[in-house]
Amino acid sequence: MQLHWKVLSWMVAGVLVGVLLQTFLEAPAWAGARWVDPPGPGIELAAGRGPSANLPDGEKFLAAIRRRGTPEEQRHALESPEDFAALLAECENGEVLWLERGPGEGEPLPLTLGLDPDSWRATVIGPFAFAADIFLALLKMLIVPIVFTSIVAGVTGIGSGRDLGRLGAKTFAYYVTTSLLAILVGQALVNLVQPGTDAPLGLSPLAGAELVPEASFVDVLKRMIPQNVFGSLSDNAAMLSVIFFALLFGFFVTQVDEPHRARVAGLFESLFEVVMRLAQGILKLIPYGVFALLVEIVGRTGFGVFAPLLKYMLTVTGALVFHSCVTLPLLLRWRSGVSPRRWFRAMSPALMTAFSTSSSSMTLPVTLETVELRGRVSNRVTSFTLPLGATINMDGTALYECIGVIFLAQYYASTSDYVLTPGGQAMVVVMALLASVGAAGIPSAGLVMMLTILSALKLPLEGAALLLAVDRPLDMLRTVVNVWSDSCGAAVVARSEGEEGPLQAGDPAPASSA
Ligand code: ASP
Repeated sequence: MQLHWKVLSWMVAGVLVGVLLQTFLEAPAWAGARWVDPPGPGIELAAGRGPSANLPDGEKFLAAIRRRGTPEEQRHALESPEDFAALLAECENGEVLWLERGPGEGEPLPLTLGLDPDSWRATVIGPFAFAADIFLALLKMLIVPIVFTSIVAGVTGIGSGRDLGRLGAKTFAYYVTTSLLAILVGQALVNLVQPGTDAPLGLSPLAGAELVPEASFVDVLKRMIPQNVFGSLSDNAAMLSVIFFALLFGFFVTQVDEPHRARVAGLFESLFEVVMRLAQGILKLIPYGVFALLVEIVGRTGFGVFAPLLKYMLTVTGALVFHSCVTLPLLLRWRSGVSPRRWFRAMSPALMTAFSTSSSSMTLPVTLETVELRGRVSNRVTSFTLPLGATINMDGTALYECIGVIFLAQYYASTSDYVLTPGGQAMVVVMALLASVGAAGIPSAGLVMMLTILSALKLPLEGAALLLAVDRPLDMLRTVVNVWSDSCGAAVVARSEGEEGPLQAGDPAPASSA
């Protein structure tokens, strides 16, 4: 069976098993914390293991707020552990509860509800979650070695400074253009659909919101330069600084005299070969890893949490679909002459891995293999463009940032006297572009970067925490779009470099090749 059919079958099987677990195994929502009675009124929540383990220990809470339905339904006074238990019984896994502290003690704290670890469903999911964790750990293990060796080998392989400049300029031009187009599609759609206007989100009114100081993008730029190379190499979220160092290192390898140049270049070429061979071994596990991941993801959260935010989710999905099925294929056809449909089929193993891991960086080994072997783009182009693309080129994330921020702004505009001016919208566009560049290729990175934009617009960050409940499915979709755009970019750049390669040698290569 061809690899993409194999992965797809396992994916579908994973979703089915997850849905079966959801349907047949009752599992109450669980806060992952236990109650202790403090002296005086109110109740103290001691953080335990599980989703809420990040709650501060020993905080005292007076009420829990549920962000859905009518205002009366939303606020639950917590006078005894039974009140909390009764509230939990009504809640869904994945739902976010806001715990209110005493007057004047700051904003409510979000508590994400998880699956009760003592439930049958959690017990059945356990082995799948274990398998999924192993698969993800193997992929994570590959990220730094692949990014570092491929960029150094790529830059030294490109040769002279002139060639590097030309390839770099083309790659960046493609990345900026597609990200901007994606953002504009998102902006048009979110203004058309207006999912935020009068949405029943029940966030606290704007006036009392806590404003954080403006986070600046200058910081992102500063962080790009590693203070300690080994520190960055040991952090999968610090890919921007790894790339920065690898580009510089590679460039200066080309600047030293022989025999040093040839020695170091040869060493990195060989290292890259070894890492890719290692990746090939691990990639044999894709179908099973993808299966375990989907059982876990689908089995864990109920679908009920999505209801209040459905319109928002549909807007993001609509824009992602438009960008990946209209904008990118047109660009691919126009700039490279490759048939988008055939290219899509060839890229499917990478896209399915992106969907199940929600991480461009973890997908990178698969993307490299797929674009080279199934897409037939030269190693010279892939080893330069794809590792860069996995971190910098995130069309789906850029579009999502734009929609998410404007969605929340629409909500605040309809519930307070906040106004999102055209100037403000323009600022969102620019910041969404920068945020997508700064976001790491790991799950939920886009949501974290959204905080920077919200604080620059002086909107409370609480809104983004609400979007957390529905982030996973959107993250899966936007990561597919991120990887799809990277792969189209590789084809466009390869063709502009005069390569005959992309898909010319007939159909996608057989199953063994990616
Ligand atoms: N998960 C995305 C990626 O790795 C980033 C994001 O959260 O938008 O591409």
